Amino acid sequence: MTDIVPELLEAIKKDFEKQRVDSKKIQALLKLLEDGQATYKDAHAYAVEVGEILSKVLNVHITAETLPDGKMYFNIADRVLNETLKNNYSLVSDYTEGVQARLNRQVGLKLRAQRPDFDQDRVKGFVNKLSSADDFTDVQWVLGDPMVNFTQSVVDEAIKKNAKFHSDAGMKAVIKRQVKGKACDWCRGLEGTYDYPKGTPNEVFHRHENCRCVTEYYPEKKKARQDVWSKQWRKTSIHDILKEEKRRDTLPLEDIQLPKSLSAKARDVYVKKYYGVKRNPLDLEETYKIRPGSTITNVEVIAGKGVRAPIRDIARLVRENPGSIKRNWQKVKGWAFLQDLEGNDIGEFEVHWYQCENVGKIEFKLKEW
Ligand SMILES: [Zn+2]
Repeated sequence: MTDIVPELLEAIKKDFEKQRVDSKKIQALLKLLEDGQATYKDAHAYAVEVGEILSKVLNVHITAETLPDGKMYFNIADRVLNETLKNNYSLVSDYTEGVQARLNRQVGLKLRAQRPDFDQDRVKGFVNKLSSADDFTDVQWVLGDPMVNFTQSVVDEAIKKNAKFHSDAGMKAVIKRQVKGKACDWCRGLEGTYDYPKGTPNEVFHRHENCRCVTEYYPEKKKARQDVWSKQWRKTSIHDILKEEKRRDTLPLEDIQLPKSLSAKARDVYVKKYYGVKRNPLDLEETYKIRPGSTITNVEVIAGKGVRAPIRDIARLVRENPGSIKRNWQKVKGWAFLQDLEGNDIGEFEVHWYQCENVGKIEFKLKEW
């Protein structure tokens, strides 16, 4: 029997990639991610779309006619599903990683976004089911909704893993689940906001066939507090969630275009690795500069004027900059291209600085880890 898998996989991959790249939905969702606007809701939408494309493509290329004896043999199902579902898994976990990294930054959590685990057992289940029937058409349904369901579950797993990671670190974690579309009683009953892990029933991370419910996670830079309510399921209204989101908003600002070094007003912008720590000022290795002519992007106020968080170092800033007004100071972050002092590029990094009317931008430093 000739091995049909290499050719089959090639055709599936090619078709899948074409549809994925052409999808307007995917383009829009990737743009959101790139702009730092994507939420877990968008991750779900992305996963559903990626899952639906895969399901469509599999159903075009795998039929009773194209399979030997009209049967899905174990080794065909095994190779095709492992490869294609692993690809969906990594596409979606790239997306959730971007979303979570942004959420963490937003609340000032210096923790790495966690990638979900690949659910190998579930793929094994699909493979066994597909190869269990002598007639492929009896099990063809596995290539329908279960492919979408599996892909969307990657988002649920990402949420669970990050919530657990934060909760293990002693942080407060809150999971939200919302129904989407026609929802059954089971899903309606699960809608709500839950403290994680106590108070979160495991079903919150499960989805039955054709369930498109949306799970979300809001990290908070707050130590978990033991209280009498934490043992109960706590359901909060959507208004409470929105209020919460507003309170910790950061304030986005325009990109900053630096002048080129040849222009008259050009002045190098130095970035230090440390501030506030007494170090040898001649220690050049601790100092970088922002590449002249480059652009600082994703600029956001994270403390001070315009946002909720106060500036911790405000007393010193006012003292060292006489004439500046306390309420006008802002702590700002952005992504900048850094060079060493010889002008060699070393990469794009998150930098923080302070700024104030009449003072300007001062104390550029690398984000602490
Ligand atoms: Zn549902």
